[in-house]
Amino acid sequence: MITLAEEHLEEIGRHGERDYPHECCGLLIGSFAADGTKIVQETYPISNAREEEARHHRSLILPEELMRGERYALNKGLDVVGNYHSHPDHPAVPSQYDLEHAWPTWSYIIVSVQKGSAADLRSWEMQNDRSRFDEEEIAKGL
Ligand SMILES: [Zn+2]
Repeated sequence: MITLAEEHLEEIGRHGERDYPHECCGLLIGSFAADGTKIVQETYPISNAREEEARHHRSLILPEELMRGERYALNKGLDVVGNYHSHPDHPAVPSQYDLEHAWPTWSYIIVSVQKGSAADLRSWEMQNDRSRFDEEEIAKGL
């Protein structure tokens, strides 16, 4: 389970709308509870590093951007607990590419942006054997 405030959900949706028709991406910064659930404190937008022609369907976070995000979280006593990205004109369901580039323990939030407007938003967790994603429950925090 992952807990996000309404404001975080709105930020992710707005980022997806801003970068449409390209994919947006960013990090989810917060903490892991003892039972493995995640609590998001902040969203951390990252530019989409893919070359122009591939950008609309393949988002990629560069290692140096990830390191910057991790350092930012660490300075606040927090962790990177996941990643978010948009699927322009596609459902909020992970692609094969997403599966191949995912890390276990992280949450993967996908927002579907339909004709420029944020629509469905869903969260996914990869199985430990990397075979597939399972949908994760999103709880609304304050
Ligand atoms: Zn994707």
